[in-house]
Amino acid sequence: MTLLSVNDARAQILASLRPVTTTRVALELAAGRVLAENIRAESDFPHFDNSSMDGFALRAGDSAPGQTLRVTADIPAGSASLPTLKAGEAARIMTGAPLPPGADAVIAVEETDFTNRTAGSAAPEKVIVQRAVRPGENVRLRGADLREGEVVLHAGRRLRAQDVGLLAMLGAESLTVFARPRVTILSSGDELVPVGQPLTPGKIHDSNSYALAAQVESTGAQALRLGAAKDERAAVQALLDRAAESADLIVATAGVSVGAFDFVKEVVESNGTLNFWKVNMRPGKPLAFGEYRGVPFMGLPGNPVSAFVTFEVFARPALEKLAGATMRPRATRPVILAEAIESDGRESYLRAVVDPVTNLARLAGHQGSGNLFSLVQANALLIIPAGVKSRPAGKPVDAWLF
Ligand code: AMP
Ligand code: MG
Repeated sequence: MTLLSVNDARAQILASLRPVTTTRVALELAAGRVLAENIRAESDFPHFDNSSMDGFALRAGDSAPGQTLRVTADIPAGSASLPTLKAGEAARIMTGAPLPPGADAVIAVEETDFTNRTAGSAAPEKVIVQRAVRPGENVRLRGADLREGEVVLHAGRRLRAQDVGLLAMLGAESLTVFARPRVTILSSGDELVPVGQPLTPGKIHDSNSYALAAQVESTGAQALRLGAAKDERAAVQALLDRAAESADLIVATAGVSVGAFDFVKEVVESNGTLNFWKVNMRPGKPLAFGEYRGVPFMGLPGNPVSAFVTFEVFARPALEKLAGATMRPRATRPVILAEAIESDGRESYLRAVVDPVTNLARLAGHQGSGNLFSLVQANALLIIPAGVKSRPAGKPVDAWLF
């Protein structure tokens, strides 16, 4: 078996996957979804010149310290009838209200003097401005934010709250997004019992499928846990057949090692195709990737930490690709080692606690791949590049922060 770099394995997986189908969703349900169309501004925004302050619209040329202007109009937000301002005139105006023709600036109410200043009161007859304003001051010009026809959100973008706000601003009631990828998760092993059943000698709870389902959901995809198959060919095949019924990706854990009872590998091979890779990484035993009855299949190791880490390294980007999202490498952050670390030369993902203030990283307990608690204590994975066998305290390493 050839030794594959993490990057090459990930690139091969990504190259074989295509985004899922698209669907329409109401704007209210769009947050977190991946856009499948380019969104253009259908008009300039703002649509009309308007005031950015509560104050008085005027001609900048009329303003000077102590200058008195006649207030000839009152323009609340939402106003549609606008008088034309003539020389020496001002209009009381509210934030967001359209600028009247003739005016070219707004002076803030705090920089004026007039008599009736209480809320709800009518506009005064006269206003004294305290200073000269520049043309355009406190005016939001039509088209200053968005230009008609401009693409403001691109297909492949995962929509954030502010994006949803922009879509609402543009009046988009519904949008075309990618469907949420459906992921079936199955475990295998005679030792596994579901949560809710007591442990008898030799047994453990099937923890991987719960952690993996949570990881799947955190990508925006839908997870369906199918439970654990016994270490028998027929049981594994039956569960895989169910897993393939309506999934965009099948994720299996365990049963892909070289143990005597690891049937997942041979069942997948007999009904699909399987690349069985020894990836140059730690933790992570051989990683299996292929298709089962035409559905992409990923076989992760059984050890809980290995399953978690290989999901982050391979399955998370795979799900981003299936989701139609624009692919970007995951952001790493340089952190400083608070203690010396050792590695075996494989690309290593070490569980660590990074102090958010000092940026110093310490290992979170022993690094055995069955030690799930150390992953619970960790807030980061330190990424030690292939070829590095040790690194002293005080040196930087890249980290993924959870
Ligand atoms: P295997 O890949 O079947 O050799 O399993 C490797 C290790 O992972 C063994 O200690 C298994 O008991 C453990 N393991 C396998 N599947 C799970 C699971 N679903 N949840 C927790 N531990 C598991
Ligand atoms: Mg097993």
